[in-house]
Order: sequence, then structure tokens, then C-alpha cells
Amino acid sequence: MTPVAAALAWLQRGPRRALAFATTGVALAVLLGGVIGSAAPPGAPPRLYVEVGEQPVAGRPLDVSVSVDVPAIVRLRYADTTLEEVAQELRVSLLAEAGAWALEIEAEDAAGRVGHDSRVVYAAWPPEPRLEAPDALTIGDALFVRLAWGLEPQREPRLRVVDVGVELDGVPQPGLRRGDEYVVLLPLPLQAEPGDRNLRGVVVDAFGNAHETHGVVRVAPNPNPVQELNVAPATLAVITPEGRELEARTLEKAFAAVGPLPRWDRPFLLPVEGRHTSAFGLPRRYAPGGPVSFHLGTDIAAPTGTPVLATNAGVVRVAGMYPIKGGLVVLDHGFGVTSLYFHQSALAVSVGDVVERGQVIGSVGSTGLSTGPHLHWEMRVDGVPTAPLAWVDRRWPGGPVLAPDQVVD
Ligand SMILES: [Zn+2]
Repeated sequence: MTPVAAALAWLQRGPRRALAFATTGVALAVLLGGVIGSAAPPGAPPRLYVEVGEQPVAGRPLDVSVSVDVPAIVRLRYADTTLEEVAQELRVSLLAEAGAWALEIEAEDAAGRVGHDSRVVYAAWPPEPRLEAPDALTIGDALFVRLAWGLEPQREPRLRVVDVGVELDGVPQPGLRRGDEYVVLLPLPLQAEPGDRNLRGVVVDAFGNAHETHGVVRVAPNPNPVQELNVAPATLAVITPEGRELEARTLEKAFAAVGPLPRWDRPFLLPVEGRHTSAFGLPRRYAPGGPVSFHLGTDIAAPTGTPVLATNAGVVRVAGMYPIKGGLVVLDHGFGVTSLYFHQSALAVSVGDVVERGQVIGSVGSTGLSTGPHLHWEMRVDGVPTAPLAWVDRRWPGGPVLAPDQVVD
């Protein structure tokens, strides 16, 4: 077969698979008019100059340009794509295939001499970041955000992820990277303003390309009206500057000791069954005309002596009797999370103890600033109180409800 006849045969077969494809250079009509056979240097096969787009990403265009020193029949093979063109300059946009594939190009001149170029093109799938966060929260809730970038369905090979981050209103948030996800847990303090919070997730691949995703969390104001407690002056007498100072210092020390990794892999549990009296986040006055303070935990009324259970696995950071908080236990659950139990009549643990989820840590009482037997229970993130009931039966606050024994990574 002559080169021209071969070219016609190839062109009839056509490209089996090519995306947007453009060619410049010498048109077939001109070639048939006799360009082939006019410029080949005697003896030497055609010389090829091949350029392949840098950083090929699977599923995206792979630009290839071929220059030949003489008009020639250019044949290109890559993955299951085959192209043939009569040209001197050829630019094609292929679809980058995942994995390592040979890109083979040859150019045949009018005398049947063939020049070659062969290389391996490696392309991987880019990360596909997505943010998982609640659409709406209330001031005082903890905000749990998951940034994931795995591929659905799973595809290999994948571009390595070299950096990830989550920003809340433009401020980078520390978190924990675990496999193909990055989790962030933050409090929305009771004193903070309600309104929209903007989330941004960024995943940077090994080529330095940043892949972004965005989300908005609507944060509603505290719905509770100010509660007038009118606590008797004798009860309030336990509040002294020294007592406050001692307790504040104790908690500060406990929060500073919290480890970086979560110590729990099961849902949080309600530490005591009973009637829920004062809810979390209530603004209240202890005495008429006094300052408004927020209720930083949730109160559960139960008879004195009722066992108090550890809401989840942790380490005891505080265990002792305090003037205002009474019989107090603070558990460190890691990843910034602590749980606090006030007003207990007796304690069953000591500082440094490692406790299991559901282990008895003490007994309900009415010690400290309290008007009757109840447990005041707090869940804090980075030392900031968050709504405790949003944690119950969940691995993360506000997350899906799980069976008690369900272990979730
Ligand atoms: Zn309380």
C-alpha cells in the first residue's frame, strides 16, 4: 500500500476515540496534490517533536502536539485511542486515562521511512472534596464538620492529597485527618452572634492544585427567655470570689490537659436517667436585678445516690468537692472534648483514672450551689460549653443516632 492509500484507509477508519480534536498544518487535498514526497531529506527518517501537557489528570483533556520536520502520516496510539493524520503539525486533545499508558507516535514520510516517539503518560483521578455539616444550628451547639475527598464510585489510581483544611468565616480550623477525611469540631459559644457561618473546605493534590468546596450553616439565636431563679441568699452564699477562682483555675488546668485524639469510638450516653429540669443555654438571674448568666449544662433531677455514668470513654482530670460545683468530675475524651458532672454526693473515681463508657463515676447529690438533688451535666469543646443533649446516642454532636454498641470510626 502506498503511504497516501494507507492514509486514506486510516482516515476512513477514523479516530476511535478522541475528544475535542483539532489539527493544523497541511490539509489532505494539498497532500494529495503532491506535498508528500517533496521534502524528506535523503536517508533520514522524519524527526518528531512531541509535547504532552504537564500534570495529566484522569478524565480531563490530555493535550498532545506533534511536529514533524516533513509532512508525513502521523499515527498516534494512547490507551484505546488510535489516530492517523496526514500532517506536519498535529494538536490533539485526548482524554487522560487513569494509570500508566504508553503514548506512541510515529511519522511516516513519502519514502516510507518511519520516525518514532514513545513515552509513558501517568494520570490519576483528582480528589473530589465535599463538606458534611448541619444546615442549621442554634447558638451554643457544637459544630461538627467532615471534609471528605474520596471518590464515589472508588477509582484508582488517585492523585495524592498533600494538604487539607477547613475554614469557618475565613479562619482556618484545626482538625484531625483520618484517611480520606478531615474532621473539625468547634463550639458556637452562647455569647456569639447568630447568623450564617460560611464553611470552606480545601484539598490540595500532589500537583499543587487546590480543590474547593463550600457550605453555609445557619445559626439561630438562643430561643430561651431570661429565667428568674430567685435563689435564697443563703444558697448563694457559697459563691465567693475565692471559690470561683479555685474552680476556674481547676477547669483551665483540666482543659489544657486534653489530648489531641478522640478516646471514644461509640456514641455518647445520658449519664443519668431522670426529669430534665433546667435546659442548656438558659439565660438567668440568680437574684432579682442581678447579672444574667447562661446555664452551661443541662440539669437532670434524680434521687440522691443515683449512679452517675461516664458519658463516654475518657480519663479523669478532676475529681473532688468544690464550693460551687460541689462533687465534681471532669472527664477528658480527647480531641478537645470534656464532660463535667456537678453536685455529686459521692465520687467513685480519682484523677488519672481511665474510665469506660457507662462506668459509674459518682452519685447524684445536691452539693455546692444546688437547691435539690440533680446532676448538672456539661459537654465542652475546647473548654467552651455546648448543648449536651445533642451528643446523646451520637458519635458526634448532632450526628446520626447510633445503637449503643455501635463502633464508628
Ligand atoms: Zn445546672
